[in-house]
Amino acid sequence: MKEDTIVAVSTAWGEAGIAILRLSGPDSVALADGLFRARGKLAASAARYMRYGHILDREGAYIDEVLAVRFEAPHSYTGEEMAEIHCHGGSMSAQQAIERLLELGARLAEPGEFTRRAFLNGRIDLAQAESVLGIIRARSDRALSSAARSLHGEVSDAVRGLRERLLLVCAGLEASFDFPEEDIPSPERKEFAPTLAQLKEDAETLHRKCRDGSVLREGIRVAIVGRPNVGKSSLLNALLQESRAIVTAIPGTTRDVIEAVLTHRGVPIRLVDTAGIRRPSDLLEEAGIAQTLSALREADLKLWVLDGSHPFGNEDALVEEQLQGARVIVLFNKADLPQALEPAAFMNLRPQLRVLPVSAKTALGLEHLKEEIVRAAFGEGIVEEACNATARQVEELRQAVRLIGEAEGAESLDLVASCLHESRSALERFLGLSADTDLLDTIFSQFCLGK
Ligand code: GDP
Repeated sequence: MKEDTIVAVSTAWGEAGIAILRLSGPDSVALADGLFRARGKLAASAARYMRYGHILDREGAYIDEVLAVRFEAPHSYTGEEMAEIHCHGGSMSAQQAIERLLELGARLAEPGEFTRRAFLNGRIDLAQAESVLGIIRARSDRALSSAARSLHGEVSDAVRGLRERLLLVCAGLEASFDFPEEDIPSPERKEFAPTLAQLKEDAETLHRKCRDGSVLREGIRVAIVGRPNVGKSSLLNALLQESRAIVTAIPGTTRDVIEAVLTHRGVPIRLVDTAGIRRPSDLLEEAGIAQTLSALREADLKLWVLDGSHPFGNEDALVEEQLQGARVIVLFNKADLPQALEPAAFMNLRPQLRVLPVSAKTALGLEHLKEEIVRAAFGEGIVEEACNATARQVEELRQAVRLIGEAEGAESLDLVASCLHESRSALERFLGLSADTDLLDTIFSQFCLGK
């Protein structure tokens, strides 16, 4: 099927210096020439050279003064013929140019369609395509650098390497099944066991780095919980003031602050304020509370705040019941006041919990708290080594590791081979070597228009 030619504005809408329109597909240059006027046609100018000119509407009236450039397949972002028109910013000129291009026969691109074409044309693999999204979404310098390394192919190369090593083991096993008449001796388990062990170890390391990377990408979701008056709001505010956080409201909520993102050592920490949970006064607020509650459930980590200057009470016990099974850091707040709670005695009863004394009033312990949050999310992982990965990719790697483990313990060689085969499939899905349309739709629909 001949691909059609798509167009979109690739810069963000709104007032800005320039707005860039991007065309991709076989008619890109001809379509651009339909409204671009310069001394010669864009089609006649050298690829990748900016041309100065104007764009015109249907009646031949000037829309804007622009720069235009063309790219020859396969040396373009999508691997196809492409053209770009750089208009002045603000939406009007770009909007009129798009309308004119649609009249001339272009189609409006779907979100992520340029990157999807780059993938379908084999210019980048799926892991690289997803790292483009990582770069767009990066909220900290570390997240950006890990996404850039993935786009460069670092993670894909590692996964490809694992897949090739798996293939070698499988080939040895399957040869003996497929050609029994050739009398190929089955490999002895002790021959391939060390290879499998090494493979599993390497896959585990990569899984850990990608899991760390997905934390870098999404941020650590932290919820602050505790009974009223222990100082949750004060703590949130103290953390925000200290860290110049970016504060956003979850849509549908009537409160100002619901989620705040701060970064520590380059890792985004997303604080969800549960002080917003109260009896709903209308439907809108009810929706907001439902969202806050689900953010609470999905939190990677909970900060359980207690008032250190008060004895442990029934209300605290109620909160503790709801925290069963969650990852928790306990904060004894109001450490600037005489203390009624004793950390050692508290931890004696709950050896699995960590207690930190803090004060929202004096900011005591807050730096240490941020350090503990990052450590709780990364464990011993090294932030600098984290690989950019999506939740989908982390899951594929987890499956790959699990299946190598199953192969190690499998009773028959048949089973070993089938586990390894499935493990390889997971790696292939990671790279998008066997991606179906639904998967591609899900991935690329997360992109913004024009990417
Ligand atoms: P929340 O209901 O848990 O959100 O608690 P608030 O943040 O509203 O705080 C309740 C009261 O405790 C307020 O009067 C705060 O000023 C006070 N408070 C909060 N943190 C501290 C602290 O670290 N030290 C002292 N001395 N008072 C605090």
